[in-house]
Amino acid sequence: MQKYSQLITRPGKMQYGILILLAVTVLGGSAWALIKAQQPGAQSIGFLGAYGTAVFILEAISAILLYAHFRRTGMLTFAILSMAYLWVALLAPFQVGLLTDNLETFSLITASTGDAAWLWIAWHLGFPIIITAGMLVDGSYPIVTRKVWRWTIALFGLELLIIGGIISGTLLSWVELPTLISESRAYSDSLSLIYGPAVMFCCALALTVVVVKGKFENEIYAWLSLAMLAALCEAILSIYAGARFSYGWYAARVLSLVSSAAVVVSLLIENIHLQYKVVKQNQTLKRMATMDELSGLANRRELDERLKAEIKRAMRDRTTISMILLDIDKFKQFNDTHGHLIGDLCLKHVAKCLQRNILRHTDLAARYGGEEFAILLPNTSENDAFDLAEHIRKTIAYSPIVMEDGKMLSVTASFGIASLVPSQAEDATELLSIADASLYSAKKAGRNCVQRPSQSWHASRDELEKKVSSNTHYLRGRTVQSGHKR
Ligand code: GH3
Ligand code: MG
Ligand code: MG
Repeated sequence: MQKYSQLITRPGKMQYGILILLAVTVLGGSAWALIKAQQPGAQSIGFLGAYGTAVFILEAISAILLYAHFRRTGMLTFAILSMAYLWVALLAPFQVGLLTDNLETFSLITASTGDAAWLWIAWHLGFPIIITAGMLVDGSYPIVTRKVWRWTIALFGLELLIIGGIISGTLLSWVELPTLISESRAYSDSLSLIYGPAVMFCCALALTVVVVKGKFENEIYAWLSLAMLAALCEAILSIYAGARFSYGWYAARVLSLVSSAAVVVSLLIENIHLQYKVVKQNQTLKRMATMDELSGLANRRELDERLKAEIKRAMRDRTTISMILLDIDKFKQFNDTHGHLIGDLCLKHVAKCLQRNILRHTDLAARYGGEEFAILLPNTSENDAFDLAEHIRKTIAYSPIVMEDGKMLSVTASFGIASLVPSQAEDATELLSIADASLYSAKKAGRNCVQRPSQSWHASRDELEKKVSSNTHYLRGRTVQSGHKR
């Protein structure tokens, strides 16, 4: 179970509270219903129709969701629990159908309403037995993905054969079954003294196994415990009622609905939790993929992606894009003097100084590597980039790192800037290498200063930009001309 803990959630305190409240209600309600259990009531066909439909839908949904759980986790337990719900989903409509007397109108069906009791026994014996089996295989090694289909075909195939046999055997009267319920709807002794107690025993056994083995350790097991408690109370009330359509019998049907709904509720809650988890995990993964953990700034990959995109945009709009590269001065010495942990604190401190000074949402501060940082500034001139770099330089130099013991440590950083109006995708690399060259000259100039690209680079870049610009005009002219021709 540990390996799949991601898919299986433990109920929270509130859920435990709700479960306890529901368990007390089920027990209290059942005890109260016992008082009037044997009082006869009217036969309501409308109730039977609604009851049969509700049981079928709830049990079928439980079976499907539990099967989905089996596919996701490979835990055989969930396949068997799904079988238990399929068992009820398929038997219940026939049992309830027989009670309404409507199935007897089909020429092939020879069963009478009395035979519905046999279907009830099959339903109420099979369900707890399959649940018990499912819980007992819990802890077995998960089935590998390619074996899931084989198990599905084997288990569900066998189950469908048995269900088919039971339904046909009862409805078509293959075997002569003793009458369990008389014309006056009263139960026979064998129902009250043998089959009824057998059903109660199996329900009690299933409840015990679900509680002891499941230990409420996940939402499904916790709600399954409530389902089995309701199933046990239903069996006791059904048998104690002594006759069909008595008050107790109706109360037992209501408990049967509680039992059916419990697991649907748990599976819905669990699905909601899973969805929530997936969304959160996706957000974390996305953040981890784009963020530098130590500084909290964007990482190198994110910077490269954004730079590519901004270069394209600047090419389209013919705007200037700037880059600031900064490197902490004598950081090796800082580490050697104060230790790596304080060194890390210093990196965080510098990152904060950058973040505090970056105001436009289109600007991006990133950790470029080691003690180097980069700031991408779309639609920003070289002069503006210079001013910003100068401002950040002063912020770093004049805001010391305050240690826990009150000691203050100062660092400085050197800055290199680059600006260009890009004309090709390769200008992303050009921008970075020019900023790096400027940074190098800032180090050479004595550190703690900002440097621009060299004059010679400016001259050659201006030349290139003129060429690109005249090329564009030429192209624009041609476009207009060809438009005229047309
Ligand atoms: P300069 O002024 O020329 O930049 O000198 P410098 O000492 O800063 O440069 P150098 O490249 O020689 O040293 C960089 C140091 O940065 C070496 C390395 O231990 C340290 N460093 C790199 N990444 C980290 C980190 O994540 N945490 C810490 N504490 N130190 C780091
Ligand atoms: Mg460096
Ligand atoms: Mg350095």
